[in-house]
Amino acid sequence: MGFVVAIDGPAGSGKGSITSILAKKMKLNSIDTGAMYRCVTLAIIRNNIDLSDMEKIKEVLDNIDIKLIKENDNQIVKLNGEDVSKEIRDNPVNNLVPMVSSIKEVRTKMVELQRKMAESQDVIMEGRDITTVVFPNADLKIYLDADVEERAKRRYNQNKSKNIECTYEQVLEEMKKRDEIDKNKEIGALKIADDAIVIDTTNLTQKQVVKKIKKLIKREKQVKKLEPKIYSERPDNTRKRVVKAIVKVVLRGMYKIFYRVEIIGEENKEKAGKNGGFIICPNHVNYIDAVAIVVFSKEKVRFIAKHDLGRIGPLRWLERLFDVIPIKRNTQDLEAMKRCLKALKNNEVLAIFPEGTRNGMEKNEKAKNGAAFMAIKTGKPVVPVGISGTFKLFSKVYINYGEPIDMSKYKIKGKEKESQEQATKEIMDNIVMLTNVKK
Ligand code: C5P
Repeated sequence: MGFVVAIDGPAGSGKGSITSILAKKMKLNSIDTGAMYRCVTLAIIRNNIDLSDMEKIKEVLDNIDIKLIKENDNQIVKLNGEDVSKEIRDNPVNNLVPMVSSIKEVRTKMVELQRKMAESQDVIMEGRDITTVVFPNADLKIYLDADVEERAKRRYNQNKSKNIECTYEQVLEEMKKRDEIDKNKEIGALKIADDAIVIDTTNLTQKQVVKKIKKLIKREKQVKKLEPKIYSERPDNTRKRVVKAIVKVVLRGMYKIFYRVEIIGEENKEKAGKNGGFIICPNHVNYIDAVAIVVFSKEKVRFIAKHDLGRIGPLRWLERLFDVIPIKRNTQDLEAMKRCLKALKNNEVLAIFPEGTRNGMEKNEKAKNGAAFMAIKTGKPVVPVGISGTFKLFSKVYINYGEPIDMSKYKIKGKEKESQEQATKEIMDNIVMLTNVKK
């Protein structure tokens, strides 16, 4: 897959114009997915198909050919070879497209086409479900928003400039209706992805929005360029080994002075490591507890950390130095998962916070099954860790390693999900126990 920028947002939020400006500036291929749903709608209208006639709709979908072509800075939309750029913006299509785009079969086909379009090129794709369904793993996810009154004002002015007869009240009413349908669709509804960057454009000029997103694209492109280095599976060269050793000594000293870190149960890691790699599972108290685990460990520990952590300057440097494996949250990051399994098979030591987020237990967040999944799959043990203390300056922090947990008992064919849940529960119960250090 190429570099993917995904933009979602309600009608009139400026997605279309901003996407085409950015495409030109950042050398990306712009894909207006709304135009694709409009093409399907036009084909249905032209063939006089009733929306309940699924056989005929499937026939249209099987034979549809949609092309989005750039010509002198304008986007030309071709439906089965014919230029329909204007017709897809007319009222008959406007009125029917929300209903057509709610049909499951239509969405499945469009999502498939949209994913194909990004297979061999860098794209900026805009729509309603790009950040959530089409590309939940996009390199950059943006949700553009604006007050409905502002969006209606923009659309009204746009219509006036095109000599389209309407009143502001009519446009506002239509906009509200469209929002209602787009946000409440059974599938492909307009939602804000957990890791999308929300930009409210109500009080921003187009230029300001473009500038903001351009900056984000530049940063993501740089992160993508650095990824192969972060993911590097090569053994450390001498320089890296020396820098790492120095950083470890310095940080260990600082942690000992400032947080009075005390390690308990170190021998449990040795037990776990007798037959190769293992997974360390601590509770997550503070941003800096992962660093403590890494610098106080004799063995090389690779943390699995959320992908956007690497965007913070000094952390990115530490992430690369200690070969952190970045993982995208709340999505199935298969690439990261493959890397983790490979590292475990190579007998490396990984560390992951099953809570997924800081103080997840206190926040009543459900623990994640990732560690259990990997341990069961690779047959590697889990070492639970209880971290207790607040990481306040000069307070005391205990890092308490527990007995390794053999996960082989959870390898039950046909009951993978339940087994992972039970294994995660055992890990979490142990972590809780280990946070009760007798001081
Ligand atoms: O973006 P535009 O207004 O041209 O989209 C037309 C319609 O297509 C939207 O109102 C929405 O119902 C639908 N659509 C969708 N999913 C997308 C893009 C558009 O459902 N990814």
